[in-house]
Amino acid sequence: MPSLNDGIMIILSSPSGAGKTTLVKKLSELDNFEISISHTTRSPRPNEIINKDYFFVKEEEFKRLINNEEFLEYAKVFNHYYGTTRTPVIDKLNKNKNVLFDIDWQGADQIKNKKLDYKLITFFILPPSKEILFQRLSIRHSADKLIAEERIKQFERDVLHWINYDYVVINDDLDTCFLKIKNLIEAEMNDGSKDYDINFIRNHVEKLT
Ligand code: ADP
Ligand code: 5GP
Repeated sequence: MPSLNDGIMIILSSPSGAGKTTLVKKLSELDNFEISISHTTRSPRPNEIINKDYFFVKEEEFKRLINNEEFLEYAKVFNHYYGTTRTPVIDKLNKNKNVLFDIDWQGADQIKNKKLDYKLITFFILPPSKEILFQRLSIRHSADKLIAEERIKQFERDVLHWINYDYVVINDDLDTCFLKIKNLIEAEMNDGSKDYDINFIRNHVEKLT
């Protein structure tokens, strides 16, 4: 049963490569913040730790979880399934932990539409420019340039979803971006004043697209 002391849910979404996974990991170092570990049918990257970065499963197992209605949300992204199982999230929230989600716009929409009795804050992360985004993707996918190209192609479509988020933050310098998100979360939790300029973001999106 949800109560006032429960944790809150914080979603970070972005076009691929903008830095949400890096930011979610940094935020999880704060007191009382934990990451929701997703299931995926894609293969692990060389630096990824199984059952920590993701639960890597075969498509049959993913479909079994869908049929058992175990997902709070799931979606197909870049030809693979990704999803958040409900029980671990609710357990964490009920233990007063704040839960961080690194999920795409489809998952964010599903969680918003569920209207759960837990506070939800949504962030959309933007890159400083499309060129820098491609550089970041190329470094991350240096073993397979096609992946970076496939993901940058999706950028124009993904970026359109910024409008549905509570806050949009530009990840130029990592520490500055992290602090901005941290301050906004603290302001939301304490009903404090928020340092946020939507017009600046609107202009930035126009430049990006
Ligand atoms: P996403 O989860 O949004 O796809 P990642 O967090 O994996 O993106 O970041 C993409 C790549 O860019 C990673 O190699 C990461 O180390 C790097 N990166 C993230 N933020 C920054 C930043 N502010 N400056 C430079 N590189 C960054
Ligand atoms: P990646 O393959 O780069 O780890 O993730 C690809 C995309 O899938 C990213 O936008 C990431 O946020 C999203 N994603 C990761 N886990 C989930 C999840 O559980 N649900 C949804 N809907 N998207 C996810």
